[in-house]
Amino acid sequence: MTGLRDDALGLYLSIPFCRSKCTYCNFASGVYPASEHARYVDRVIQDLGAAGQWADQMGLELPRSVDTVYLGGGTPSLLAPELLDRLFAAMREQFAFDPDAEITVECAPAQLADSTLAALAASGVNRVSLGVQSFIDTEAHSSGRLHNRTIVAEDIRRLRAAGIANLNVDLIAGLAGQTFASWDESLKILVDSGVPHASVYMLEVDEDSRLGREMLSGGARYHAELVPSDDSIAQMYGRAIEMLAAAGLIQYEISNFCRPGFASRHNLRYWQRRPYLGLGLDASSMLHAVADEARASAPPYVLRSTTTDDLTAFLEGAQPVETAWLSAARQHEEAWFVGLRLNAGVKVAALKREFGPVMVAAAMEVVKRQVESGLLTSSGKTVRLTAEGQLLSNEVFQEFLGLEMETATAESKTEK
Ligand code: SF4
Repeated sequence: MTGLRDDALGLYLSIPFCRSKCTYCNFASGVYPASEHARYVDRVIQDLGAAGQWADQMGLELPRSVDTVYLGGGTPSLLAPELLDRLFAAMREQFAFDPDAEITVECAPAQLADSTLAALAASGVNRVSLGVQSFIDTEAHSSGRLHNRTIVAEDIRRLRAAGIANLNVDLIAGLAGQTFASWDESLKILVDSGVPHASVYMLEVDEDSRLGREMLSGGARYHAELVPSDDSIAQMYGRAIEMLAAAGLIQYEISNFCRPGFASRHNLRYWQRRPYLGLGLDASSMLHAVADEARASAPPYVLRSTTTDDLTAFLEGAQPVETAWLSAARQHEEAWFVGLRLNAGVKVAALKREFGPVMVAAAMEVVKRQVESGLLTSSGKTVRLTAEGQLLSNEVFQEFLGLEMETATAESKTEK
């Protein structure tokens, strides 16, 4: 499932433009005039050109070989073809794309012009993620989406005709007005479409979204009163796991399902903690420090940096807002909570090799408690979330935060 290398890079570009704002969305995205698109692309291209110098200054390895590229958003397919051409040309000028690099672009159905599709295919895009969310027209419409199921089917046909057959469809369980019957229907249409990858998210309403504000303060504009209960959403999620598995789309991560060989290689980079460079609004990077003999026996330090989520500030040249070196203890915590997202689970021996037995022993105390609570299973060699644990994953991951302190306490006790 991997094929990913630490000496190659995943490249992420955030494109924060949308044609309309979905009711549940709290991403750093919005509706902006086309003139802002061009300024934005200029700034991202500038950052692509400056990435090498920035990495040198920070003492970071910046692999020049790229094996995954992901344009997310927002709706990257809203960029004019010439802006997409410029972005891909700038990426290829700075980095060498592997011949089999996975190159994904997020597209909104009904918002993919023929000229854009031609530009994507000509730029080497070989994977498209479609933000469908529901195949039921009333649900899609009341969430602020601009498509219907006929248009989605037509977009899938056009993408395949353009040579892009590696397709993902996103669905959300818990949209306003959704019922068990309508959810089953959406899943069935997804399966019948033959796409090799699906992402299924349980609606998490954020108070910064229009739907979230309505749920807190009342109102009927965004149909907050029709949002299914948490229990119903959990049941819908379980139903998705069953129906997709029966159709050969096997769950490999909490929210992701695929036919064999079609896992999202770019997202695996995040879950396997491999280096990536994120550019654009509200994008993160994770890069290794240049090897240092003085700490050769310790895990490589990594730097996490995040850019601003304020478009005006970004266009005016704001630099990364958060930059932090992650200690080995912090990396160890992350290894647990990103590793547990994957159905393959966390391999205990690999973590012991990377972080040493003392740190991992502190984590295994957490594992023991969570196994007793029914949220994790452990064979001693591999630790995985249970079905219940997948529903309550944030609570499980929370337990692995603060291990740094527990490890320090364990070490000081050992010293006494
Ligand atoms: S298309 Fe995506 S980013 Fe844009 S408003 Fe909808 S959910 Fe948010």
